[in-house]
Amino acid sequence: MSKLLIVGTVAFDAIETPFGKTDKILGGAATYISLSASKFGVNSGIVSVVGGDFPKSHLNMLEKNGIDISGIEIIKNGKTFFWSGKYHNDLNVRDTLITELNVLADFNPIVPQAFVDAEFLMLGNLHPAVQMGVIKQMPKRPKLVVLDTMNFWMNNTLPELMEVIKKVDVITINDEEARQLSGEYSLVKAAHKIHTMGPKYVVIKKGEHGALLFNNGNVFFAPALPLEEVFDPTGAGDTFAGGFIGYLTKTEDLSFGNMKNAIIYGSNLASFCVEKFGTTKMETLSQSEIQQRLTQFKNLTQFDIELQ
Ligand code: AMP
Repeated sequence: MSKLLIVGTVAFDAIETPFGKTDKILGGAATYISLSASKFGVNSGIVSVVGGDFPKSHLNMLEKNGIDISGIEIIKNGKTFFWSGKYHNDLNVRDTLITELNVLADFNPIVPQAFVDAEFLMLGNLHPAVQMGVIKQMPKRPKLVVLDTMNFWMNNTLPELMEVIKKVDVITINDEEARQLSGEYSLVKAAHKIHTMGPKYVVIKKGEHGALLFNNGNVFFAPALPLEEVFDPTGAGDTFAGGFIGYLTKTEDLSFGNMKNAIIYGSNLASFCVEKFGTTKMETLSQSEIQQRLTQFKNLTQFDIELQ
């Protein structure tokens, strides 16, 4: 079975949405990615860092979900990465209120020996120098490298980010970030321009409006499932990415057709993530719930027009 290495933040988040507010709860890109990928039963491990203030119970929960946590360094006298965000009534729009890098500021990632030969690498949202540090520790290039990033790193560390972008197969970013990175308003033009920076596959996430996959002139679109209740969109992008790469790690098929399925799996899992605050829903999500919603997804997008 292929192995999946996940790099990203393991964090505390404080979130405000029109429906409520949380104090510091478990968050972080690697947390959401790994919980989502764990639904495929793949052999996955995280590389990240937390402070001495990070509860052991959170680490136990990840382990209980079959995720290898030996690559999560604990800096006893340090503080865990902290992010705080506030959503508008339009849940696609959020303001970042606080980003405290804390232990992430001087993080030197060490890939556990058991994962240096992982065939699949997910570079979750985190400092591009850390992402590059991990790529460099893998003696053989993984079969697939997927990168997720955000405007924070484009604004603060663009030259380092561009070096990472050159080295990856797939980039997943949201629509506004794709526009910022490419300088193009049209998402089709933006995807073309991002192809020239390195990635053969460009996934553009449009929140509740679904996701687009571009590859060499091929385009695929998956809607987001229309949900009755959306409580907290935090982590939806990471959950999407975790589902995407989790499915590819399990199936080991990198054809465009299979990538389309991966997009659907990612969208399906993201639809659960947003139903409760933080990681609550993803921690308890069952296989039967996942399968049931996949049927809904199929019915939502299937039609039978006879072509002349
Ligand atoms: P998403 O909603 O998918 O964009 O991901 C939200 C998660 O990303 C939260 O749990 C945060 O802890 C984490 N996050 C927020 N800002 C950053 C950042 N600058 N670098 C890495 N992770 C971040």
